[in-house]
Parts: sequence; structure tokens; C-alpha cells
Amino acid sequence: MTATNEPSFRESVDLMFNRAASLMDLPPGLEEKIRVCNATYTVRFGVRLRGDIHTFTGYRSVHSEHMEPVKGGIRYATAVNQDEVEALAALMTYKCALVETPFGGSKGGLCIDPRKYEEHELEQITRRFAYELAKRDLINPSQNVPAPDMGTGEREMAWMADQYARMNTTDINSRACVTGKPLNAGGIAGRVEATGRGIQYALREFFRHPEDMQKAGLSGKLDGKRVIVQGLGNVGYHAAKFLSEEDGSKIVGIIEWDGALYNPDGIDVESVRQWIVKHGGVSGYPDATHSAEGGAVLEEDCDILVPAALEGVINLSNADRIKAPLIIEAANGPVTAGADEILRKKGTVIIPDMYANAGGVTVSYFEWVKNLSHIRFGRMQRRQEEARHELIVSELERLDRYLGDAWSMSPDFKAKYLRGADELELVRSGLDDTMRIAYQSMREVWHSRDDVEDLRTAAYIVAIDRVSKSYRAKGL
Ligand code: NAD
Repeated sequence: MTATNEPSFRESVDLMFNRAASLMDLPPGLEEKIRVCNATYTVRFGVRLRGDIHTFTGYRSVHSEHMEPVKGGIRYATAVNQDEVEALAALMTYKCALVETPFGGSKGGLCIDPRKYEEHELEQITRRFAYELAKRDLINPSQNVPAPDMGTGEREMAWMADQYARMNTTDINSRACVTGKPLNAGGIAGRVEATGRGIQYALREFFRHPEDMQKAGLSGKLDGKRVIVQGLGNVGYHAAKFLSEEDGSKIVGIIEWDGALYNPDGIDVESVRQWIVKHGGVSGYPDATHSAEGGAVLEEDCDILVPAALEGVINLSNADRIKAPLIIEAANGPVTAGADEILRKKGTVIIPDMYANAGGVTVSYFEWVKNLSHIRFGRMQRRQEEARHELIVSELERLDRYLGDAWSMSPDFKAKYLRGADELELVRSGLDDTMRIAYQSMREVWHSRDDVEDLRTAAYIVAIDRVSKSYRAKGL
């Protein structure tokens, strides 16, 4: 996807790291220690399918173990390679530091096109891959905890968790070996939507700061903002759905693998999603103009561009034609280092991947804690909270009767106030808090230092500073 004269994904991440590190005062040698990937394990394994032995190649890369377990998704795609998993593992280190989840960074991948296999075949392949990783503690509740990424979801995580449990029958914490599991297999409410929800919370926080909006030449609220989304998978779908249904944004473009939809009056996200589920792509969708050359829609006029599919899609070949004044990197690495430079000079504001898509790992952290504590969030306090609220409400009702027409409770106040928070509400509240605080830590650096021009450099500075403090506390 990237132009041939561009650095690889990993080199791109390193260049962005170096840019930030050069503005910091790190002890000699520590910069290099933080940047390099600690280890990458490559596995080739065979699975008998359809009467033949098929050989698969998979990776699990551990970037930094300054905190353990290390955390990061497992991706199923044909383009998976060592360079890519190492870049993604590095981003996980910085991401976890930025949003203060107590993990090091890791990432995995399997070279496979999941669409070519039946469900039972995928299960066989996934279980075998999980076996190879678990055997080497590359899946382990206290050392290495995978999660879903492109091409994987709850189903694959459930298979992996079960495979680990079969291999570690006395491990009481076995469910904490992967996150992103279905609710009935130890998952947590709100994990599937988490990364898209995080994009929404990130944008809401951005739009709370007029100074930041001004840098992008934007004003007002999310309501009415024109949005183009690339990739209507887990992340893109949830982000687009929440932005349009809850914040009043208008989704004017949707780019998928088989082309793009464009409609300046807005596109109904849910109906496109249902179309994709039924037909496999966006082609033929009736209520928008379809163009086979999807990438060109990245360059259309809009207020917010949300690349939520692949890395390197905004690169030297198209960066100068990108019109969006604000890009939020829902995917990992959608903007190459070269494109980043061009966009920065143009004044485009980029909310960087390591922050923007951290909703997934944040809720994964909550799931991991839930698994280790063996209790659902809210189970102990929910009814007690309701009983205390009941006390206040009955007191207000007494007042209501006493004051007659002069004052009365609004009709839905009682029901809303009485209800104690369930797990989903608690998860969303924890995610919202995390996204707000992490944004504020980035913008503080962005605004307080003249040598920091952009949010990405600010994000790296916050993250590198935290990782370096961990290493120094360990005596390095
Ligand atoms: P997904 O597999 O659910 O969705 C990816 C979508 O992109 C699919 O709809 C696919 O058809 C589409 N797509 C593929 N090739 C395309 C192309 N050439 N042009 C346009 N669209 C294309 O994956 P996901 O989990 O949504 O992940 C998307 C990105 O978000 C990845 O970069 C991933 O690393 C990142 N991410 C995901 C999570 C998570 O929780 N799932 C968390 C953090 C970051």
C-alpha cells in the first residue's frame, strides 16, 4: 500500500519514536533499549485439512517487558509479517503506557485469509496456533495476554482461552490468558464495542477544547460534522455508528475492500453493515454512490477522516491531497512517517493511533482484572447503591407531597436515579475516564512545549517518559 520509497511500518514507528526521543533527555542507551523489540517468535505448523497438510506461519512479538504481562492483539491476514508484528508490538508498549494499563507491549499474527476456511477449520488452526504459543508462555495470564485484532474476534479468543485451559488444568486464572472473549466464556460487557467507543470518547474530548479545534480550523461540536470512515469492521463500524447515532455526526463516506460509498447527505451505518454481512462488501448498496477506486474517497472533502482498516493507507502518494483537517487514527499506523510530515506542515491535526484506538486495550485490562478477581464488576455494590438512592428519593417524595404544585420531580428522574450501574455502564465510565485523562496528558505536552508541534510527538513523549521511569525503577 505504501509507496516504494517509504520506510517499512516498523521503520515508520521508529522514525516517529526518534522524533520524540530527540526532544527528551534520556540517559544514554536507554532510548535504544526502549525502541528495540525484545524478541519475536516465528512458528510454522501444519494442520491436516481437506485431506492435505497445510502449513501456516505465525508470529508473536514481545516489544517490551518493563511491565508484565505483555499485551497485544492477534491478527489474521495474508499480509502479516515480522516487520508488521514488531511495529504493532512497539505501538502496544507506547499505547499501554499512555493510557496507564499495567502491561508491556506485544503483538501476534497469522498469515491466513480467514475467509477461505470453514468455521471448524479455523478452530483447528487457531487451537494449534494457541498450543504453539501457550507452550512457550506466549499465551499466559501473567506473562502474555493476546486479544482480538484484524480478522479475529470473540470466537477466536474463546478457542484460545479454552486451548490454554486444556493445557493448564489447575490454573485457576486460566481465563485471564486472553481478553476479548465472549461474555459466557469470561468476557466483559462492552469489549466488542470498546475500540470504536474509545474513538467516540476521544473525539468528544477533542471537541471539549476550543484551542485544539482551532488548530484544525474546526469549531462547534461533533453534531453535523462530516465524517469519512475507512473499514467498517469492528472498530470502524462501532465508531461510525456511535458518532452518527449518538453525536449527530454525518457519515458521508464509507471505504471498504471492494470500493467506497459516498453520499453528501449521510449514509446509514447500520444498513451498510447489514448489507456487508449479507453481500460480503459494499458493492451494490443502493443509497449512496459506489466507486470502485475506494482510496480516492480518502481525499474527499470532510471534517473528520477515520482510517479504521489498514496501515500505510495515507502515504507519500496521497498525503498532499487529503482534505480532512482532522484525522483520527482508528487503525494502527494508517499514516506513514513521510505522510505525517506532509500533513503536519499542512496543519492537519492527527489524533494518533496509540491514543485513539486504546479503547480496546483499556477494556481488555478491565476484563483481565475481572478474570483475576473472579467476580463481575458491580456485583457487590449495585443493590446497595440502589438502596441508598431509594432513601434520597423517598425523602424527595415526602418534600414533593409537602410542597404540592410548587415543586415536583421530573417523571423519569426517579427511575434513572434509582438504577445502580451495571457492568456495561461501569466499563463505559472507566473507558471514558481513561480516554479523557490520556488526552489531557498529551495536550498538556503539546501546548506547553514550543518544540512539540503535534499530538503524536506529545503522545510519544508521555509514553516514553513512563516506560523509561519503569526501566529506571528496575535499575536500568
Ligand atoms: P476487522 O477485521 O474487524 O475490520 C477491518 C475492516 O477493514 C473490514 O471490514 C475489512 O473488510 C476492511 N478492509 C480490509 N481491507 C480494506 C481496504 N483495502 N480498504 C478498506 N477497507 C478494508 O478489524 P478491526 O479489529 O476493526 O481492526 C481494524 C484496525 O484497528 C487495525 O489496524 C487494528 O490493528 C486496529 N485496532 C483494532 C482493535 C480491536 O479491538 N479490534 C484495537 C486497536 C486497534
